[in-house]
Amino acid sequence: MADHDDIRDVTILGAGFAGLCMAAALKRSGRDSFVVLERRQSIGGTWRDNTYPGCACDIPSLLYSFSFASGFPWSRAYPLQGEIWAYQKRCVAEFELEPHLRFGSDAESARFDEARALWQVQCRDGRRFLSRFLVLGMGGLNRPSIPDLPGAKTFRGPTFHSSRWDHDADLAGKRIAVIGTGASAIQIVPELAKSAKHLTVFQRTPAWIVAKQDRALTAAEVASLGQRPIKRRLKRWLIYWRQEFLAFGFTLFPMLMKGAERAALKAMHAVIASPELRERLTPHYPMGCKRILISSDFYPALVRTNVELEASPVAAIDATGVVTAQGRHVDVDAIVFATGFKSIELLGDTQVFGRDGVSLKDVWQERAVAHLGIVVHGFPNLFLLVGPNTGLGHNSIVFMIEAQVNFVMKALAKVERNKARSIEVKSDCQQRFARFLERRLARTVWSSGCKSWYLDARGQNFALWPGFSAEYWLRTRWLPGRRFTLLS
Ligand SMILES: Cc1cc2nc3c(=O)[nH]c(=O)nc-3n(C[C@H](O)[C@H](O)[C@H](O)COP(=O)(O)OP(=O)(O)OC[C@H]3O[C@@H](n4cnc5c(N)ncnc54)[C@H](O)[C@@H]3O)c2cc1C
Repeated sequence: MADHDDIRDVTILGAGFAGLCMAAALKRSGRDSFVVLERRQSIGGTWRDNTYPGCACDIPSLLYSFSFASGFPWSRAYPLQGEIWAYQKRCVAEFELEPHLRFGSDAESARFDEARALWQVQCRDGRRFLSRFLVLGMGGLNRPSIPDLPGAKTFRGPTFHSSRWDHDADLAGKRIAVIGTGASAIQIVPELAKSAKHLTVFQRTPAWIVAKQDRALTAAEVASLGQRPIKRRLKRWLIYWRQEFLAFGFTLFPMLMKGAERAALKAMHAVIASPELRERLTPHYPMGCKRILISSDFYPALVRTNVELEASPVAAIDATGVVTAQGRHVDVDAIVFATGFKSIELLGDTQVFGRDGVSLKDVWQERAVAHLGIVVHGFPNLFLLVGPNTGLGHNSIVFMIEAQVNFVMKALAKVERNKARSIEVKSDCQQRFARFLERRLARTVWSSGCKSWYLDARGQNFALWPGFSAEYWLRTRWLPGRRFTLLS
């Protein structure tokens, strides 16, 4: 029988942080009957795809890692892409996940067969995988969003998206356009500026940027953290609560952000002397409404003589450069799109069909809701990781992923204990949760009127958890029987 005809306990889609965390939890509990389907040729998700110069995380290393695998010798306070990817690979080795990984397995659809209580995943190459439970860990930030600009195809030089970096393109000594000033751009610009002949940064909306307290750790610090798990744990805990503190401003008292805004402007003015450039860089929305960016080298890069900030929108591209809405033509040799991801399309290009063949995309047409962002009524034995409203603006997503995986493990144990075939969240429970989200979201800084990738086409926040991550952790600790239907 071919590998893909086996019936397993669990199929996991995606081998990023979420899928790997789920796989490690299964393995740590002694379970072997699972498979991880990954469409690309290696693990890592975000940290495999984004190899652009300067790519790094904005959450400290000790917190942007699993609590159960914390002994990695991080070289910096904030991890660089290469180290995070190496960390993920080490987790694969440590938890012996390799035999469970199936690369090049691009899941096209997943369908629940009610009669057999089985999920059937169909890959684009024709293979299918059968399992009792299905866990979606497909991430939301891995499909590049590139604006459809007139003339883009006629450009003569290299052009690529930040997450598909063309390492064969030699950009040193060249005139380069970076389109966008979001989280990726502010990391790319300082690096390219070092060797570019000229760099034009095209900005649509200025972002709130705060300083990054990053530094290389000394050899003694790395050794001490490596040898003393208690010290490591304590440090992680302190970092966690420092980050968690920010949730006060985001979710409870948006007015608290005013002080942070003043501090950010003061820091920007300390670097940028030109009143006109200051004005172009000053955000006109409350801090936190869009993702706060952290960087200590973006503003210094902008005052270099070989760098300019163009605040007029990009209108078109031609064979030799970029044309702004005001009609200015900027001659460039290469164009980098740091224009973000198609985050709005939850589930991406994967179709998920639950009971009675109902499509999850259809259910979510009005609004994407899952109880705790993990389970959806009508979709038994299905679990989402980093599902709707479980992203964070202030703390580590890895913490949220661990809470979700813990929830899934509890659900599996409940099904086993009750000798049931399936578990499904009740509709009234899910509706109550949706109302709770609406109430909570209304008072957050994200609802203060700006346009951000946190909002769907209707302006509803589908991305962020409107509270403390500690509260989310607490809520995912139990699966009260009254909220779930167990079928035998
Ligand atoms: C440039 C960048 C910087 C970031 N920086 C930060 C940061 O500083 N701090 C932070 O907290 N978060 C950051 N993030 C968010 C980051 O994505 C999450 O922190 C985390 O990595 C998400 O992990 P994941 O496993 O959910 O998703 P991903 O890492 O996206 O992994 C999903 C995996 O699923 C695979 N997949 C998708 N669809 C299918 C399919 N149909 N079949 C099979 N496989 C599939 C993908 O190929 C991918 O490998 C950043 C994201 C980006 C893009």
